[in-house]
Amino acid sequence: MVSCIYIFRKGLRLHDSPSLLAALKGATAFYPVFFLDPWFCNPSRLSSNRFNFLLESLCDLDNGLRSLGSRLFVVRGKVEEELPKLLTTWRVSRVFWESDTEAYARERDARVSSLLNSLGVAWDSVLGHTLYSPQLLVETVGGAEKVPRTYEGFLKLLGRLPPPPKPYPTPTALPPATLCGISPMEYGVPTLEECGFEPARVTTVFKGKGGEAASLAHLKTCMAKIPWVQSFEKPSTPPTALTPSTTALSPALKFGCLGVRTFYHALECVPGKKTSPPVSLTGQLLWREFYYLQSYATPNYDRMVGNPICRQIPWDYSPSLLKAWEDGETGFPWIDACQRQLVADGWLHHLGRHAVACFLTRGDLWQSWEHGAALFDKHLLDSDWALNNGNWQWLSCSAFFYQYFRVYSPVAFPKKTDPRGEYVRKWLPHLAKLPDAYIYEPWKAPPGVLKAAGVSLGVNYPLRIVDHEESSKKNMSRMAAAYEAHKVGEDAERAQANAAHPLAKGVGGSQSGSSAKSTEEWSVISSVPLGTLPPHTLGDADKSICGSSKSISQGDRPGKVVGRADGGNSERDVSKRSAIKDDDDTILVSPAKESVPKGKKSKLQGTVDAFLQKP
Ligand SMILES: Cc1cc2nc3c(=O)[nH]c(=O)nc-3n(C[C@H](O)[C@H](O)[C@H](O)COP(=O)(O)OP(=O)(O)OC[C@H]3O[C@@H](n4cnc5c(N)ncnc54)[C@H](O)[C@@H]3O)c2cc1C
Repeated sequence: MVSCIYIFRKGLRLHDSPSLLAALKGATAFYPVFFLDPWFCNPSRLSSNRFNFLLESLCDLDNGLRSLGSRLFVVRGKVEEELPKLLTTWRVSRVFWESDTEAYARERDARVSSLLNSLGVAWDSVLGHTLYSPQLLVETVGGAEKVPRTYEGFLKLLGRLPPPPKPYPTPTALPPATLCGISPMEYGVPTLEECGFEPARVTTVFKGKGGEAASLAHLKTCMAKIPWVQSFEKPSTPPTALTPSTTALSPALKFGCLGVRTFYHALECVPGKKTSPPVSLTGQLLWREFYYLQSYATPNYDRMVGNPICRQIPWDYSPSLLKAWEDGETGFPWIDACQRQLVADGWLHHLGRHAVACFLTRGDLWQSWEHGAALFDKHLLDSDWALNNGNWQWLSCSAFFYQYFRVYSPVAFPKKTDPRGEYVRKWLPHLAKLPDAYIYEPWKAPPGVLKAAGVSLGVNYPLRIVDHEESSKKNMSRMAAAYEAHKVGEDAERAQANAAHPLAKGVGGSQSGSSAKSTEEWSVISSVPLGTLPPHTLGDADKSICGSSKSISQGDRPGKVVGRADGGNSERDVSKRSAIKDDDDTILVSPAKESVPKGKKSKLQGTVDAFLQKP
């Protein structure tokens, strides 16, 4: 008899799960378990919305398992403490789980595997959460310090590998779980209240949408919109839409209710000519892969200090500014509306995330991205360690993206897709009666207009906490200074961080035995002197995009790239722009190359200096 425990973690599904299939091989008794760690049952750490999505997903998983003759065992407690008891009760000889590349999960799994080793129980883990194995990618490039830090470099790397595997089949039957003295009522899926969460706080539009069945149904609905999939361009999807203008499948992917290979190949099956990465839907899934690789290959990925790809920026710390941002009380209706949606729905359009992240960090408030990532982590249903920390570094110009002179205007940007401010009116109903002309700038409204709309600034809606024009210009100068300081003196720190990273020592699965290499490789982008180039130093992606207008005819295969300079991760195509004050009031300088005579200042540098008020 081969008795096996399968630990469900993120992959809360039965379809497309290589680790579940591996666990089932040869098993004659099978125990699907989910450990509910009390650490997570804490409303101050995660929102009721996300916890509810998790519980719905567990209920759905339990239903799916029951339909195959099994069930889910939700075990309250820490895996290290509870697992040994179950091993004895169920006389288990093998334990399986899906590998997880998050730093926290790798440490936890190292503890679990050494515990199992000490008990003489066989174990194995199989990757299934991403299209590509980050470890394989690291090995392909010859070490963690060599992973590409641009999207285009990343696609080139994928082009060297076979396409992602097809979705794995769903099991059609499962071996029984013999209860061995456990009552059938034990280990059921708990309620919100049981775990300390208030049902009244479940306000999200995703209520009722957790789980594999709902996620697959939603994927099907999305894929049926063939022209929409074919023409999908992320930067053109409106962030002000009242219902999601993108797939909104991120919570399903985060919890693994939807297999990523299933999503990828569903897109491949959509007929006809499609847009291409980075802006296409396939391109979005590859952004996910990009950040998974970054998170795997970067020491201290979720913080600034000791993180070799993150610019060291002397952020301020102001509890009152942070609180105003968190509570959606900045006095900028667009920012506040986004923050209200974040809390109420646990989801926000990508460009809404851009807007509030830029505002909090380099745009207006000059607060560390780590605070922003922490608040997102609490509220987002899709909160994902790799994606959240990576995107925050991007938006704060700490890593991956360096055009700090491009700042989102909290007024002009939303006007482009929502001139009447319907989105703001939905999320800030007390502003609903303001005329269109003032909906994004109530401070400009004459007293009579405010009175007629029932708005009293400083009483039922806050006065703006900063002057955007002043603060964004000041912050650009601070960013320029931080970039300047960064290029000197941090190599030693970087080298230290690299050397301390598990991959540098071959621990954590690296087969390549790579060691920390020259610090140059970590800082390809960050060490280019500011005085000699426009502040946006060209990454590989930007170089290829300038002047590129070729399109891909055979679908969205990795390894081929056309399109936007920042891959749809930004709000618009910047490839053809020159140094201008953009119509959306972002201050924009094109990465287009110039030939500048020796000793002369480039036109771009001149414009940038003007913005930065440099002599
Ligand atoms: C500051 C900030 C923080 C973010 N934090 C998270 C997070 O914690 N979890 C999360 O899933 N996404 C995060 N994102 C990325 C992105 O905003 C969301 O993935 C996307 O908005 C989810 O909506 P969707 O499923 O409709 O996306 P779609 O446009 O339909 O894309 C499909 C899938 O592709 C992936 N994807 C799309 N955009 C990105 C991206 N920029 N980076 C990585 N993967 C992407 C997601 O898995 C998404 O579900 C963050 C973005 C920013 C700017």
